[in-house]
Amino acid sequence: NADTAMYKAKKAGRNNFQIYTHALNAALTERVTLEYNLRQAIELEEFILHYQPKVDFTTGKVCGAEALIRWQPEGQDLISPLKFITIAEETGLIETIGEWVIATACYKAKALQQKTGQYVPIAVNVSPRQFRQSNLANTIKKILAVTQLDPSYLELEITENTLIDDSSKFIETLHSLKKIGVKLAIDDFGTGYSSLAYLKDFPIDRLKIDKVFVSSIEEDPKNKAILKAIVVLGKSLGIAVIAEGVETQYQYDYLKSIDCDQLQGYYYSKPLPEQQFEQLLLNQIES
Ligand code: C2E
Ligand code: MG
Ligand code: MG
Ligand code: MG
Repeated sequence: NADTAMYKAKKAGRNNFQIYTHALNAALTERVTLEYNLRQAIELEEFILHYQPKVDFTTGKVCGAEALIRWQPEGQDLISPLKFITIAEETGLIETIGEWVIATACYKAKALQQKTGQYVPIAVNVSPRQFRQSNLANTIKKILAVTQLDPSYLELEITENTLIDDSSKFIETLHSLKKIGVKLAIDDFGTGYSSLAYLKDFPIDRLKIDKVFVSSIEEDPKNKAILKAIVVLGKSLGIAVIAEGVETQYQYDYLKSIDCDQLQGYYYSKPLPEQQFEQLLLNQIES
């Protein structure tokens, strides 16, 4: 009867609420712990960068690299950026971590030029919050001065979601960066929420086609059409196009056939520890 039903519902509701608060507490505790550990990681300098080669389709040679952060707590396995970048962004810790990434990548790029005689641009990921930092352009300028790296060998990868913010401050930052001479790439192109208008309004040097389009071309032929359209778009705007997440010969062949400029993906190499990336550049001179 209705009374029993009401009683049952109330009881279930209360239980659900308890389960809910329990889960919430657990999630909160986990976040607080992660934030605490991240702060420690900054103090202890537990981050490292791996470098994933970018390859030119025409020459078949390594023409750059993307620096990708990993967290290496002492005595433990590497932790993926997917596990901590979001919380670093939410807590603002990304500003400190991001500055470390840029400085380390610039220092490495310069060292690689000196050791290997090869001049390849190194790209770093810059998250939306980091990009909105009031002093980003100045920070980068200082880092370039200290490391003596030619600005054109530093590339910033930002996502379309960063570009949704079209405040005057944001546009000012974009233009200051351009004035400094660093390159700008749109990461995960095709998956964000902004309009294409920024391609004509902003000084963009490279489009990085997101791996979702590349990984499923075999199953879904529509993705081939999308890849082709992006390559044509880039060509007609004079913007270089690189495909991310290239893993198979089939994907490689298709991208080459449509005249894509560059590739990045396991097909050629996973992200490498710095020594291995350096060796790759050295081997390339000999071949
Ligand atoms: P992203 O910038 O789009 O970087 C590409 C990701 O795809 C990397 O994952 C890379 O290891 C992975 N990848 C490359 N080739 C292949 C492939 O052939 N197949 C597959 N399945 N994956 C491939 P990773 O290193 O785990 O980084 C994930 C994301 O974390 C990055 O995506 C980027 O958004 C963020 N991230 C990494 N390092 C940094 C950093 O220093 N700062 C910030 N703000 N974000 C970072
Ligand atoms: Mg990236
Ligand atoms: Mg990407
Ligand atoms: Mg990404």
